[in-house]
Amino acid sequence: MALTHNLGFPRIGARRELKHALETYWRGDISNGQLQATAAELRKQHWIVQRDSGIDLIPVGDFALYDQMLNMTALLGAAPTRFDAGNDEIGLDLYFAMARGNTNQPAMEMTKWFDTNYHYIVPEFDVHTRFRIASSQLFKEVAEAKTLGISPKVVLIGPLTYLYLGKETKPGFNRLDLLPHLLPVYRDILVQLTSLGVEWVQIDEPALALDLDDTWLNGLDRAYTALHGTGTKLLLTTYFEAVDTHAARLKKLPVNGLHIDLCRAPQQLDIFLTDYPTDKVLSLGVIDGRNVWRADLAQPLAILSRAQLVLGERIWVAPSCSLLHCPVDLELETQLDGEIKNWLAFSVQKLKEVSILGQGVNQGEHTIHEALTASTQARKERAQSPRIHNPVVQERLQGLSKDNGRRVSPFATRQVLQHQRFQLPLLPTTTIGSFPQTPEIRQARAAHRKGELGNLQYLEAMRAEILLAIRKQEEIGLDVLVHGEAERNDMVEYFGEQLWGYVFTENGWVQSYGSRCVKPPILYGDVYRPEAMTVDWIRYAQSLTAKPVKGMLTGPITMLMWSFVRDDQPRSVTALQIALAIRDEVIDLERAGIGIIQIDEPAFREGLPLKKSDWAEYLRWAATAFRISSSGVKDDTQIHTHMCYSEFNDILPAIADMDADVITIETSRSRMELLSGFGQFRYPNEIGPGVYDIHSPRVPGAGEMLELLEKACHVINPRQLWVNPDCGLKTRGWPETVAALEKMVGAARLLRTKLATA
Ligand code: GLN
Ligand code: ZN
Repeated sequence: MALTHNLGFPRIGARRELKHALETYWRGDISNGQLQATAAELRKQHWIVQRDSGIDLIPVGDFALYDQMLNMTALLGAAPTRFDAGNDEIGLDLYFAMARGNTNQPAMEMTKWFDTNYHYIVPEFDVHTRFRIASSQLFKEVAEAKTLGISPKVVLIGPLTYLYLGKETKPGFNRLDLLPHLLPVYRDILVQLTSLGVEWVQIDEPALALDLDDTWLNGLDRAYTALHGTGTKLLLTTYFEAVDTHAARLKKLPVNGLHIDLCRAPQQLDIFLTDYPTDKVLSLGVIDGRNVWRADLAQPLAILSRAQLVLGERIWVAPSCSLLHCPVDLELETQLDGEIKNWLAFSVQKLKEVSILGQGVNQGEHTIHEALTASTQARKERAQSPRIHNPVVQERLQGLSKDNGRRVSPFATRQVLQHQRFQLPLLPTTTIGSFPQTPEIRQARAAHRKGELGNLQYLEAMRAEILLAIRKQEEIGLDVLVHGEAERNDMVEYFGEQLWGYVFTENGWVQSYGSRCVKPPILYGDVYRPEAMTVDWIRYAQSLTAKPVKGMLTGPITMLMWSFVRDDQPRSVTALQIALAIRDEVIDLERAGIGIIQIDEPAFREGLPLKKSDWAEYLRWAATAFRISSSGVKDDTQIHTHMCYSEFNDILPAIADMDADVITIETSRSRMELLSGFGQFRYPNEIGPGVYDIHSPRVPGAGEMLELLEKACHVINPRQLWVNPDCGLKTRGWPETVAALEKMVGAARLLRTKLATA
């Protein structure tokens, strides 16, 4: 029989129960035992819902109180030496200290999990790193599942991926050298799992989706040869990209099965079906774990049938990857429009799809006839719905010409005109957009949403905040002001709510890191801007001051990346549609007399495909979308963009290609090191490297900022330089914000004098 299985279930809870328990625990309001009880209860519910959805093999070990990579670090006893773990079991205190830091040690680094919006805790390695089984949590969870009558398939991150995703803390050492130390411990874990009666272990090796060199690939062979014969069966799972270039190698590995992602990379099926070893199962990821769309089951069924012809019962049916990146349960959405709801599937619904497909494979297509036709029908209705297709938008897309993506004149010409118009001093000072979102602002917004605060009162409350922000900026002496974004809940949601083509969920949460969740909007149809979105606010702000106020928008790539996107057209097309909507807003702002407009693109780099060979194509359409959004204005209108926390060096040509007049970036934490790439590349336009870190309440000294600015002047011509913080200030309080900005303005003034007299 072909088995159905799941690679991982969202752990945060349908109502974010885990988030709330964690945060209460961190505040000291519940005990360790209470937190563990909530966690156990969630695991139980999740196992039961998976079983009841008809899944044969249920993942155990996919749960984590903070992060799955950190769980591996605890299990493998790989706490960095700076945490002084000794030889004890790694308990909750140490676990959270690694994730969040404690009074003695900063937290371990966190970074993005492949091309998802999930972040994992990066393992730290040095020559002295050694491994041991240091946590019994996984084994407890296996026992827990067994007590509930769940037959567990244990999930582990594989040794290659574990090492690959870590980092060396000192140069002159290669983390792959740790493999011989690591493998015996993995073996011990597998042996222990065997003794607990675990039949299958899913061993995740998503690193195989990246561009690995031969030393790492040879490491893979070494690893799985060493892990062979422990008594448990191994299913080696890959996802997020094609692994077809490694097909021959993977087929030869001494494991009992492979999983491939056929949603991201459907083309890889054939190469795996050819000469597939007779002693292995092949798990086919046919239900997309990365989006929220209901499948037309006829399509995956056709794929499964094709594989079944070759492999018979040795195929397994699964989602493409863990469902960690998908919201939990569509049934909780009570406000969602019925038509659109019928097009969607969240984790629970996706598992039902998997189970129906399993039935179709095992018992014949006729036994799932009803579900099959219903799914095809829903897909058809979606494809034909007038809510998706907007002829106006499509016509505009058709009519786009190269000129729509170009400013009238090259930067050098625009720069002269802009300098004439704004008469800003050398090293102009500005901020990134948001000012503190005070409890009063949040309360007003919540009350407005609930209808307790009328429109007019809300408008007045927000205008009062704008007035306050403008006055404070004038007192501080900033050169280019912002309205402060008080009226915005979130930089994507705020715009999505005003555009056609977006819907929002009540409970569509996905984990971003630790207890943090995001609720990405769903882009379902052609994007269209029915009316101006920000003009009134910015015009009001500008009416309060003689200094220029910068209009503030979110760019097309960020709007795209932080949403669930359509699967019925390429991302590039959706990006262009959003770009047109933003373009109209930019033009409206210009018409309202706003001379400086910032289009934020913090997610620009996030959109990069996993494989380098796909980068150029992405960068081309992403930069085009940005230019479409920004280039409808006159030469003397100044376009800014902002990107936070980015490694830019490998994409500098694309950033230059966006042709923003000014780009502000995060650089203070790297002490301006990120800037050197811009210097070497001879970045042509103006640039504002952040001079202080907004992630902490600490107020830096003016001397510190001056030093950073002087460093920047060595790399970039001072005539090109702007002075600003790293990012928006919405998470800060007013007192520290004012203090830091005063010092920043002071540093800029000092340097201006210095440069003038030099
Ligand atoms: N303008 C936004 C702000 O200041 C930018 C936020 C971001 O880069 N993530 O909040
Ligand atoms: Zn930022």
